[in-house]
Amino acid sequence: MSSSNHFILALDQGTTSSRALVFDKLGNIHAKAQKEFTQYFPENGWVEHDAEEILETQYQVALEALTSLIDPSLVQAIGITNQRETTVVWEKATGKPINKAIVWQDRRTAQICSNIIAEGKANIVQEKTGLIIDAYFSATKIAWILDNVPNARSRAENGELLFGTIDSWLIYNLTGGKVHATDVTNASRTMIFNIHTLEWDHDLLHIFNVPIQMLPDVKPCNSDYGVAKIGDYNIPIYGVAGDQQAALFGQLCTEKGEGKNTYGTGCFMVINTGESVVNSNHKLLSTIGYQLAGEKVKYALEGSVFVGGAAIQWLRDGLKILTNAAQSNDIAQTVSDNGGVYFVPALTGLGAPHWDQYARGMIIGLTRATTDAHIIRAALESIAFQVDDLLTAIGKDLNEVVKTLKVDGGATANDLLMQSQSSISNIKVVRPKNLETTAMGAAFFAGLQSGLWQDVSELKQIWAVDHVFEPIQSDQWALKKTFWKKAVDRSKSWIE
Ligand code: ADP
Repeated sequence: MSSSNHFILALDQGTTSSRALVFDKLGNIHAKAQKEFTQYFPENGWVEHDAEEILETQYQVALEALTSLIDPSLVQAIGITNQRETTVVWEKATGKPINKAIVWQDRRTAQICSNIIAEGKANIVQEKTGLIIDAYFSATKIAWILDNVPNARSRAENGELLFGTIDSWLIYNLTGGKVHATDVTNASRTMIFNIHTLEWDHDLLHIFNVPIQMLPDVKPCNSDYGVAKIGDYNIPIYGVAGDQQAALFGQLCTEKGEGKNTYGTGCFMVINTGESVVNSNHKLLSTIGYQLAGEKVKYALEGSVFVGGAAIQWLRDGLKILTNAAQSNDIAQTVSDNGGVYFVPALTGLGAPHWDQYARGMIIGLTRATTDAHIIRAALESIAFQVDDLLTAIGKDLNEVVKTLKVDGGATANDLLMQSQSSISNIKVVRPKNLETTAMGAAFFAGLQSGLWQDVSELKQIWAVDHVFEPIQSDQWALKKTFWKKAVDRSKSWIE
């Protein structure tokens, strides 16, 4: 059924909006629709979504994208990518959630995690899942719902309730309750999935107190996930992956040592480590990169920076020295360097590889010669320095220098930032033409399954580069890196 005028519908269910994009065989985008949905912050540190609103917005944008096509029946398959770890528990009989979805950002189970760490479980959990015990992942969120919604635990044990991350929730509802499934990448973020055996793990289920009856089937990223009914259209769901992993595949980082960094609000780096799990000695996460049907799993190392592009947002909204983010490129270029100014944007603590929730933001090195342009330049460089810290940590864990970094996300529009990254890290920075890499990854999985594309080498033919940034005078950054390190050290443990 493969033909050049056939399409794939990608559903990109993110943290703040639901999106739908239609791709053709050449990777061109033919339709795009997007809807935001409500964020609930019922208590300090809590973040919730209404799973039904997520479904509704996702369904609406899918229908909108489909019906904007001249012939929607040419859509061969659906690929789903989603915000990861966010947890939904619903009734098997009615498909109704028993609680709001607990979002990945939600910290309510931090104490449960501390207790489990105090019981000495950190090693076994890390060995089996590749993860560091944290409220971020689904396991303790599931337990929280079971222990806080009346009768939920006994109902779950009786098989009346189902758990899913957002992909499973969408699949279950779009298939009319016929399929309860997830993919290996989403499963790898629950903290109850063994990334070596590729199964839900009895020891982990015991540690986190989650009944196995409520868990979805786990499949490769391209697989048969049932038929979605959207309006009058019945379309098979053939691809599923969590957002960062979908971006990894959308960037075609299919070999060991290849990786991508997303420069959005935060920065998310994922590097393919091949067919073996690389355990990190530098506080990075080991996770599943992706799995193609009938093939071995590709594993990955992952590190996240909390404040990336958000540092520029803060200059705009907090300091008000920018009117828009794009301006940062031009203003920063009015000075020849940072003038000795270093900005550690630890506005919400520091993520990988530092993991210091007590660190706070700092601008240091100010003199009477300092101008707003120096501060803006320092902010852009801070994004690149943080990404460099991740690259260095990953290089040490991998025992191999990462030579090329593919990039995506809003802040990749900034040429000065991209050039600084290349020079600071002495690395080729490759910016693709199509920056919709997350949706593209989901579409790639679905299209491989539907036969629109035959294999990865065919995908490589349609993946096009916009610009490659090469390092310039990298040695001149050595001294600046030592100042950056000094600044980061001073920002640590600030509010402890
Ligand atoms: P998210 O998906 O996390 O919302 P996006 O990928 O849309 O993020 O990127 C938005 C972020 O990128 C914002 O934090 C913004 O400040 C930053 N950003 C956007 N354009 C630029 C630019 N030209 N230079 C620097 N930062 C930018």
